[in-house]
Amino acid sequence: MPTPPPNSAEARDVLFHLHSQTNAQAHAERGPLIMERGEGIHVFDSHGRKYVEAMAGLWCTSLGFSHARLKRAAAEAYDRFGFYHTFNHKTPAATIDLAERLVAMGPIPEAQAYFATSGSEATETMVKLAWVYHAVRGKPTKRKVISRDRGFHGSTIVAASMCGLPRMHREFGLPLPGFLHTLCPDPYRGPQPGEDISAFVARLADSLEAMILEEGADTIAAFIAEPINAGGGIIVPPAGYFPAIEAVLRRHDILVLGDEVVCGFGRTGEMWGATTTGMTPDMIAMAKGISSSYFPISAVLLSKPIQDALARMNEGGEIFGHGFTNSGHPVGVAVALETLAVYREMDVVAHTQRMGARLRAGLDAIAARSGIVGQVRGAGLMIGVELVADPATKTAFDPALKAGARFDAAALANGLVIRPMGDTIGLCPPLIIDEAGIDEILSLFDRTLAEVERDLPKSRLA
Ligand code: PMP
Repeated sequence: MPTPPPNSAEARDVLFHLHSQTNAQAHAERGPLIMERGEGIHVFDSHGRKYVEAMAGLWCTSLGFSHARLKRAAAEAYDRFGFYHTFNHKTPAATIDLAERLVAMGPIPEAQAYFATSGSEATETMVKLAWVYHAVRGKPTKRKVISRDRGFHGSTIVAASMCGLPRMHREFGLPLPGFLHTLCPDPYRGPQPGEDISAFVARLADSLEAMILEEGADTIAAFIAEPINAGGGIIVPPAGYFPAIEAVLRRHDILVLGDEVVCGFGRTGEMWGATTTGMTPDMIAMAKGISSSYFPISAVLLSKPIQDALARMNEGGEIFGHGFTNSGHPVGVAVALETLAVYREMDVVAHTQRMGARLRAGLDAIAARSGIVGQVRGAGLMIGVELVADPATKTAFDPALKAGARFDAAALANGLVIRPMGDTIGLCPPLIIDEAGIDEILSLFDRTLAEVERDLPKSRLA
């Protein structure tokens, strides 16, 4: 890339702007890709180049990048007021409507909704509620949280501690003490030679129970999991996994926290990832799809026993000492209500199932022609394609070859935005995508894969 002129947006970005999840040195060399606008499933960069955004940004814009009704809902909310809050008994009226709507559509009976702004705030809120729940029931030593290798739960300190990805811990001295990690239920790479799936599931449950017994069940508050791991590489747990895990957790009075930040709102081909994977959580965190990310808003649904614990905590007149300035922000709430109305009108679950099946069938056909696809996996419109050196033996590429990063660069050059997670290529397009959009992704994916396969060195084994 030629050196950009000193006052260009590219040069100023390198000078003034610290990017999330980006290598600063590589950024200084490459400069930014500046996106200017979006239209449906497409975005356009500052040179006018068009891309299919097959990641919906960051698993976010389920209704695409320019939905007129969401823009109107935000503008109308701003006409009433630019801000109001939910502290000390106050609330915008629409926030009540959204709470009621989420409880009605959520997977937890008799739930209440709590609002925040980001996914990290929502997952951390669940941890604090779990602590309250146990403390009020006379079990204040139940504090530890178990999450899983390759899970992602956010970037704030507790949320990052719950992540099972080394990059979220390395330079930060995390995880905090008391944040433990158990095995990832990866049916592709997890089973040992000769181990069938039911034996694999039993081993995962046994290993979780061994950890609980070693730590002491009286020290463990909660277990948190994404129904389908997103950022860890789109990992769909094997059938029977959550029932087996939850049986262990219930036996030891450990709460089950569902992280639906990516999976929620139809993404997996059901309204909730919990339904797709047979999870029965005590609380769930949601964000992203709740407003198609047109406004930062997140929420937690909490079960009745947790509400009862909060009520008991407040019996002496104390308040619930937790809250974000923007919890229940009226503009986010208005956008979320409109997003949910659009989901209902388009029958988002059925539509996602149809489009997901088309994407999956197309990718399976491409994989069958390719010599470097190990597995196509996922649910609904949340799909991962794992690239490998040898599909027959599942042998991974030498990491130095950076196969995933090569695919990413080649895809961008072809006008396709994907997400490389190691050598797994993530696809998570806006749920409003139609047949033509799916076919456009498939054609760009096919071309990119052929280029990557052709350009990788012949001796590519790890
Ligand atoms: N949970 C999951 C499953 C996520 O994928 C993310 C973000 N990608 C988060 C939590 C954190 O959300 P946020 O970045 O809004 O804090």
